[in-house]
This record gives sequence, C-alpha cells and structure tokens, in this order.
Amino acid sequence: MRYLCRAMGNQYTKEVEAGTYLPLMEAFYTIQGEGFHKGAASYFIRVGGCDVGCHWCDVKESWDAEKHPPTSIDHIVEEAKKYSDTVVVTGGEPLMWNMSPLTSMLKERQMKIHIETSGAYPLSGEWDWICLSPKKTSCPKTKSTP
Ligand code: SF4
Repeated sequence: MRYLCRAMGNQYTKEVEAGTYLPLMEAFYTIQGEGFHKGAASYFIRVGGCDVGCHWCDVKESWDAEKHPPTSIDHIVEEAKKYSDTVVVTGGEPLMWNMSPLTSMLKERQMKIHIETSGAYPLSGEWDWICLSPKKTSCPKTKSTP
C-alpha cells in the first residue's frame, strides 16, 4: 500500500495511507446483480487500484490508482447515505487500502457494509458481508489488519 501511495504522487498521499481519502473510480446506486444479496438495492463504491492482473478482468480501467482522484471518505459516506442503507465496496481491489476509517464512518451511520474482494491483501475494516473471489494469480491472505 505504501508503494502505491507514493506512486500516486499527490498532496493526499498521507491521507490515502491513513484511509481517510481513497482513490474513487465511481460510485452509483443500483441493484446488486449477483451473489447472496442479488436483487438488493445498494450503493456501490468502486475504489481504484488493483495489481492482481486477472486477464479476464472486465474493469481494467480500475487498475491504475493514479487515474482515480483521492476522495475524502466524509464525502463518499455523505453521498452514500443519500441513496441507500447498504453499501457495496468493490474495485479494483479495495483491500489495497486501509478500509477501517471508511467502514467505521459508515457504521456510525448504521449502514450495512459489504465488500467484494479477491482476498489478495489482508483484511481491514468491519464488514457485514464479505464476498471473496480468490484469483489464481494471487492467493488470499489470512491475516487481518486493525
Ligand atoms: S482482482 Fe478483480 S479488479 Fe483486480 S484484476 Fe482481478 S478481476 Fe480485475
């Protein structure tokens, strides 16, 4: 994560390392289209940055974190709250970043928080639902971080 933050090379490097800013690719209100919660109205937060490199990836434009503006989690959460009580954090690979501040802020607002991850990075944050999709190029990590 530190390497990526340096690579972003902008004034928000410290904030991104701390997880108070995240490289936001897009955020939108929609219907979950797959998995256990299929059909549930949810606000999706797509975080930029992924180095797993799946050749079948349908969101390769997410890979380069530098292309996605560091965005304050205050802003992300306030926008999410306008649309839904359920948030899905996806990517990219969201666990490249410290998810603890974002999930704490969402929890303070009594929101349900789901994540879609390859598991290639240690778990951070507090989640109501984890959708784990392991990739053969990068095995899931078993340790979590505070
Ligand atoms: S982990 Fe997800 S975002 Fe990253 S390359 Fe694979 S499919 Fe794409």
